[in-house]
Amino acid sequence: MCVLGLGLIGGSVLRAASAAGRKVFGYNRSMEAVQGATFDGFDASENLDATLQRAAADKALIVLAVPMPALPTMLGHIRGAAGECPLTDVTSVKGAVLQQVTEFGLLDRFVGGHPMAGTAHSGWAAGNPGLFIGAPWVVSVDDHVDAQVWTQVTQLALDCHAVVVPARSDEHDAAAAAISHLPHLFAEALAVTASEVPLAFALAAGSFRDGTRVAATAPDLVRAMCEANDSQLLPALERGIDLLTRARDALAAHGSVADLVEAGHAARMRYDSFSRPEIITTVVGAENWRAELAAAGRAGGVIRSALPVLGSRG
Ligand code: NAD
Repeated sequence: MCVLGLGLIGGSVLRAASAAGRKVFGYNRSMEAVQGATFDGFDASENLDATLQRAAADKALIVLAVPMPALPTMLGHIRGAAGECPLTDVTSVKGAVLQQVTEFGLLDRFVGGHPMAGTAHSGWAAGNPGLFIGAPWVVSVDDHVDAQVWTQVTQLALDCHAVVVPARSDEHDAAAAAISHLPHLFAEALAVTASEVPLAFALAAGSFRDGTRVAATAPDLVRAMCEANDSQLLPALERGIDLLTRARDALAAHGSVADLVEAGHAARMRYDSFSRPEIITTVVGAENWRAELAAAGRAGGVIRSALPVLGSRG
């Protein structure tokens, strides 16, 4: 397995896959991360083409773990040196990545991924092999995906001790806008609002810390994921602003925020009791397997161990 980009996520994938006993090597453009990884006992290089030639020789699964703006350069190199390798990514948006992979002619071997785990820190030193334990890891079931590559990507997520959520890229992006990108923007707005109130930081405790935690994320990363998902983020943002506007109007007119608070509380209670049934019956590669998995993922289903694959024994 070959990881391109040894930052928080790529570095954590490299560590977790290695801990699971996989042969894994990686590339990073800065020497600092390469030296850090090498010092920690991992196989890392700052030579992209040499790393990709090695991946091609090993038929390694390539994991793209760079921010969205770096993808075209990486995909160009992959097309040139390792176009036959199975390919996945960890990018927080899936539709825009799918489009770029298509433009570079690499769709046949590509299955998108997104581990829903992270911290506000960046770089090799921030990585940790336990980052994905119990975390949902989306593995895409778009119409084009190949059963064998899908199985390899799913196995990587399971080796990292994540639970796999099968989803279509467009549905992933609508959900990610609601549960990740919108919270990022609300957290930024909360942080700014508090920063303008004298004494606020002196009194800030749990609510402020929890509500603004993700505002500590590097601005470039936040911009990259929000801006790359603008078509899904815009309607989510409009809905959020509409709810807040109504709450403001009701507070001004009747001194009450009851509607928003009660609806929000009910939604959060539904989340707390949301069940996660295990998906065990789908046969990967059988007729309609992608649609079946997309429906199961939509209903909350997760994959905790490898699914049977059509035509393989055991
Ligand atoms: P990071 O900053 O820790 O690591 C980014 C890596 O990409 C570094 O190794 C950096 O050297 C490399 N890189 C950046 N620009 C590059 C370029 N132009 N050419 C070559 N290499 C380049 O960031 P991260 O949090 O690991 O994010 C990586 C990917 O993971 C992003 O696509 C992000 O959307 C996704 N992701 C992040 C989180 C999170 O919480 N941080 C969670 C899930 C997925």
